[in-house]
Amino acid sequence: MTILDGKRIAADIRRELKEQISRRRASAGDKQTIGNRCPKLGIVIVGHNPASETYVTNKMKACAEVGIEAERIAFEDTITQEQLLAEVQRLNNDPSFDGFIVQLPLPAHISEQTITAAIDYRKDVDGLTPENVGRAAKGLPCIISATPRGIRELLSRYHISTDGKHVVVVGRSNIVGKPMASLLMQKHETGNATVTLCHSHTTNLKQVCLTADILIVAVGHPGLITADMVAEGATVIDVGITRIEDPNSPKGYRLAGDVDFDNVAPKCAYITPVPGGVGPMTIVSLLQNTLQAYGHTL
Ligand code: NDP
Repeated sequence: MTILDGKRIAADIRRELKEQISRRRASAGDKQTIGNRCPKLGIVIVGHNPASETYVTNKMKACAEVGIEAERIAFEDTITQEQLLAEVQRLNNDPSFDGFIVQLPLPAHISEQTITAAIDYRKDVDGLTPENVGRAAKGLPCIISATPRGIRELLSRYHISTDGKHVVVVGRSNIVGKPMASLLMQKHETGNATVTLCHSHTTNLKQVCLTADILIVAVGHPGLITADMVAEGATVIDVGITRIEDPNSPKGYRLAGDVDFDNVAPKCAYITPVPGGVGPMTIVSLLQNTLQAYGHTL
């Protein structure tokens, strides 16, 4: 059994990105960059959700490490949808930002779909706008959403082919499950999988999971996937991150995935840990997407 070490792979990619960014800035003839400035990412955060605060801090740190300028744009959760839409328009129109994200979740009085749809797809470095999702589904040039991109990269760096494999994705959210399934079914060497997408209405989850060569789980229910649901030699990707109160931990909580790791891991060819698997790959994909937006490839 091999642990898919997302933390190590993400560190490798950050080193590569840092070199790439400094090379691009040094290349005087590169007309793609705007002047000789570094790439710039805006991170909009609304309210004080502790998990969101942590994600934003980690994203800012990762940007600083590779040479991307990141600006945190914070609002209280009293902001109206109209005010937030106006901020999105400001960022769409400000040429000093190559890309920006609006950290989810948003407060209940703001429609995430409406806010996401208002982002210029060329600056949508989370890859969540209808334009980018549609382009991804059609196999057109686009910005791919961060978690699916990170998972694809992790598989590829461990030379785990998806070609002809049966991939079962559990969870159909717009940010993970659906774009993951869409990416892996593409007619492409990093796709070409036979994909099954499961959700809370799937009646025979265990039987479907047992047929997976590669099982990708993004639900948010710790321990949902038990050893009797996983075939010998499967690859298991655990996207789930749930905070569980733990008075013995210095932070007062620990992070749990959706997979019963201790009992599932011995059956697997490859498995991601939580933390240290998909999480760091998601952040590094955001950096890659920002660099893509900086290069104006769309
Ligand atoms: P959502 O809550 O948006 O979606 C959860 C999905 O799981 C839904 O499609 C739901 O089905 C399905 N589901 C719920 N219960 C079951 C069940 N018993 N059996 C099968 N399917 C079920 O979640 P997200 O995709 O936003 O996040 C999922 C997890 O991944 C969370 O823990 C989140 O924190 C984590 N996450 C981690 C990231 C990372 O970088 N590692 C990035 C993003 C998320 P239905 O549609 O029918 O309701």
